[in-house]
Amino acid sequence: MKSKGAVYLVGAGPGDAGLLTLRGAELIGRADTVVYDLLVNPALLRLARPGAELISRGKRSQMPQEKITAMLIAKAGEGKLVVRLKGGDPYVFGRGAEEAMALAEAGISFEVVPGVSSVVAAPNYAGIPLTHRDYCSSFTVFTGHEAEERAEGQLLYSQIAKIPGTKVALMGTDTLDEWTKTVMAHGLSPDTPAAIVQWGTCGKQKSADGTLGTIGGLAKEKKFSPPALVIVGDVVRLRSRLNWFEKRPLFGKRIVVTRARNNAGEFSQKLADLGAEVLEIPAIKRMPPEDKQNVVDAMLSLNSYDWLVFTSANGVTGFFDLFFKHFHDLRDLGGAKIAAVGPATAAKLHELHLQVDAVPDEFLGKKIAETMAKHSSLENCKICLLRADTANADLPRALEEFGAIADDIAVYKTVGETENISGDVEDFLKNGADWVTFTSGSTAQFFHARFDLLKLSRQFPQMKLASVGPETGKVIRALGLEPKIEAREHTAKGLLAELVRAETS
Ligand code: SAH
Repeated sequence: MKSKGAVYLVGAGPGDAGLLTLRGAELIGRADTVVYDLLVNPALLRLARPGAELISRGKRSQMPQEKITAMLIAKAGEGKLVVRLKGGDPYVFGRGAEEAMALAEAGISFEVVPGVSSVVAAPNYAGIPLTHRDYCSSFTVFTGHEAEERAEGQLLYSQIAKIPGTKVALMGTDTLDEWTKTVMAHGLSPDTPAAIVQWGTCGKQKSADGTLGTIGGLAKEKKFSPPALVIVGDVVRLRSRLNWFEKRPLFGKRIVVTRARNNAGEFSQKLADLGAEVLEIPAIKRMPPEDKQNVVDAMLSLNSYDWLVFTSANGVTGFFDLFFKHFHDLRDLGGAKIAAVGPATAAKLHELHLQVDAVPDEFLGKKIAETMAKHSSLENCKICLLRADTANADLPRALEEFGAIADDIAVYKTVGETENISGDVEDFLKNGADWVTFTSGSTAQFFHARFDLLKLSRQFPQMKLASVGPETGKVIRALGLEPKIEAREHTAKGLLAELVRAETS
């Protein structure tokens, strides 16, 4: 029997991906089809299962409202679980109620999941609480788009001028001059504090404050554009003390993350937590190795090795993906000692509850061999290196110098990434960035192959390159560029610390 379709109108929140509700996340994960608006953070689409159909409503009103509604009804009629993702809360402007009415009339089963509206979130992220008992006891939300010439518009703004408390105007940037003048003409003091917030809660948030009398000019001078909202009221005075978001150390900085999508999450999140606007442009992705038989052969004789050596978290994941396809018991790994080059690699092994016998301080063939030799002589030891297909020969050479027999097994290969689900690529190519971060030599190589770093550096002279350590730095220099910073501790964490130091010192 064909399952019955349904439409879920889901509030995507105001921009910051973290402000999506748990119910919203669960539904996006189950959806067959996701139809999303321009204001929805594209990062949320990554919650969709692979193969789900993702449909953008397009820029501005490319797809007319009637067509969207008809599409929702048709998809649900085919038995699909459809998520209609709308910015903020579905029932705060944005025509969510009209969509729900159409679904109800068509007899389609539907649910409306509330979202965090920009009405409350954007002022908050600009340091403005909508209420404070010393300042006001109400807030009023209205649209700045109500045509003034219409009697209704005149009535609205004359009432707005008279109501006490905080006022929030949505969709009121283009008409800011007109409606502020109208409310002043109806008696609201030009000295009332006012603020404007564009792209509130996002890394690219921009805000300014003045008074009802000056905000129109200020917005023009500072080139504010939609999506933005305006807050009018005494609570705006609290902004200087409550502006927690814009005081973050990397606020206002555009930072490109080039590491593979599956590895980028935590690093990107930490950058965002420090206030950065993160552009996720993965340069590489990990794929199974060309020669799988080689790995299978190595796996069948794991017991004959004295050491297994992992040189990256990717190597650990690549190896164990293949391992668990052939074995169902971790004990089949045998009793070899395990070495991990670097703390991130060791951490990945710890996730599998594997103890690591050796972690060298530095990523240098000689240091790795020395650290392992401290356990017992490497003379005639059989060592299995589980690495990328293109890993360099320093490490096996160093181990052989200590008398060991090293088998170099490719457990994954690195290829260039080309996906661009978020639209960050276009944004980057048009506007540049403050920093491009490289957490491995391969990210630098593949990023350069795709975008031509030399050309970009000429086009955006303020753009700086950040390297995780000397190996990656070497690759960047070989491309004819100089990294502005190189992390002292050669990890993503070390790189974050260096970025903060560079931006705050
Ligand atoms: N349903 C949405 C509002 C849709 S109307 C909500 O609940 O937030 C679109 C208007 O919302 C924009 O013109 C702008 O005024 C406001 N808006 C939406 N997202 C915003 C954001 N991140 N920052 C500032 N204003 C925003």
